[in-house]
Amino acid sequence: MLNQSAIIRQFPILQQKINGQALVYLDNGATVQKPQRVIDAIANYYSTTNSNVHRGIHTLSQNATIAMEKAREKVKAYINAKKPKEINFTYGTTDAINLVATGFTSLLQKGDEIIITEIEHHSNIVPWQILAQRTGAEIKYIPLTLEGKLDLDKYKSLLTDKTKMVAVNHVSNALGIVNPVKEIIDLAHEKKAWVLVDGAQAVAQMKVDVQELDVDFYAFSGHKMYGPTGTGILYGKEEILKQMSPYRGGGEMIETVEMKASTYADLPFKFEAGTPNICGNIVLAEAIDFMLDIGMENISGHKKSLVTLAEEKLAELPEVEIYSPNMPKSGAISFNLKLNGVHPSDVGMILDKQGIAVRTGHHCCQPIMARLGILGTVRASFAVYNTAEDVDKLVAGVKKAITFLR
Ligand SMILES: *Cc1c(COP(=O)(O)O)cnc(C)c1O
Repeated sequence: MLNQSAIIRQFPILQQKINGQALVYLDNGATVQKPQRVIDAIANYYSTTNSNVHRGIHTLSQNATIAMEKAREKVKAYINAKKPKEINFTYGTTDAINLVATGFTSLLQKGDEIIITEIEHHSNIVPWQILAQRTGAEIKYIPLTLEGKLDLDKYKSLLTDKTKMVAVNHVSNALGIVNPVKEIIDLAHEKKAWVLVDGAQAVAQMKVDVQELDVDFYAFSGHKMYGPTGTGILYGKEEILKQMSPYRGGGEMIETVEMKASTYADLPFKFEAGTPNICGNIVLAEAIDFMLDIGMENISGHKKSLVTLAEEKLAELPEVEIYSPNMPKSGAISFNLKLNGVHPSDVGMILDKQGIAVRTGHHCCQPIMARLGILGTVRASFAVYNTAEDVDKLVAGVKKAITFLR
């Protein structure tokens, strides 16, 4: 059991009122709020440690370097990577996926195939489209079944010797469903294809073990796991990262630079050109400690119970349509009102008037919205500080919206 009031007290932003009502923040799929210890760690870094990393001989620079490398170790342990050099600091999930898609330019050729799914975030679609245009590779999509989960039979039929990369999200930000990534990875490996998992929604709510998954790449963002914006991680297996060309050129990522050409630094610095988000990367360790102190099992149990509760209560309202109902979900639920001419944003606006923050629209996932034949959904997504009372307020707010919009 979580000590909910003690957890809520750690989030200063939640103490405020919105439109005269206590804030009920259910937009955690877009970004989560930060606990006081993360906010303090940011101030502490700039008050005591701020300096550029790696280049410096002076003490402050060494302290910043040590702190950032300790954070790398923390992330490595958090996802159980084998080596710190497999942990690349990026500026977010989007940046991490672009790193891989760019780095694969020299590893793909015309006729190769990339498999993604209909429920990817745009950041796990567009970089592959750019890679496909650059190399002549082709993209194939795993569809959703009528029940609202990935069609693994179709996936098996798409996998061939031409498949070079499979990219799939671990937990869908659009529908909240948990995808069977282990099975997807094992099937891809039978065809010697690489697999990238977009873990942006998963890392803040479940224990992720990249060695157990045997995944080749795992990408996520700091700001969805109680850390700062502008931080992210690309985990990659060392032997594959070594084969990839660098994403950005510049300082820090070189061994020697001559007029005509340069040689690149070893991992992970090869992919970390320029001054990184030093403060953010260091503070990510604090965000991980925040989650570990509560316990990943406690967090994941809590979020699942809130989603289940919300699904049960919303399903009692005949005007509400829930997407991928009765599928294993984690952290989020997507729905619409079955009322003529009502747009998700109408519902979002009425909820906001009551202090309830939800996201409305396509959630950066237009292909799945097109597939469902809708423009968007209302999405309520939960974090460790949300309560059963928040779910009650959401359901009451939705009832109010039904009355107004009917
Ligand atoms: C948020 C999110 C992204 C993009 O993350 P950024 O932090 O915006 O780079 C990608 N995939 C999923 C599933 C997400 O939830």
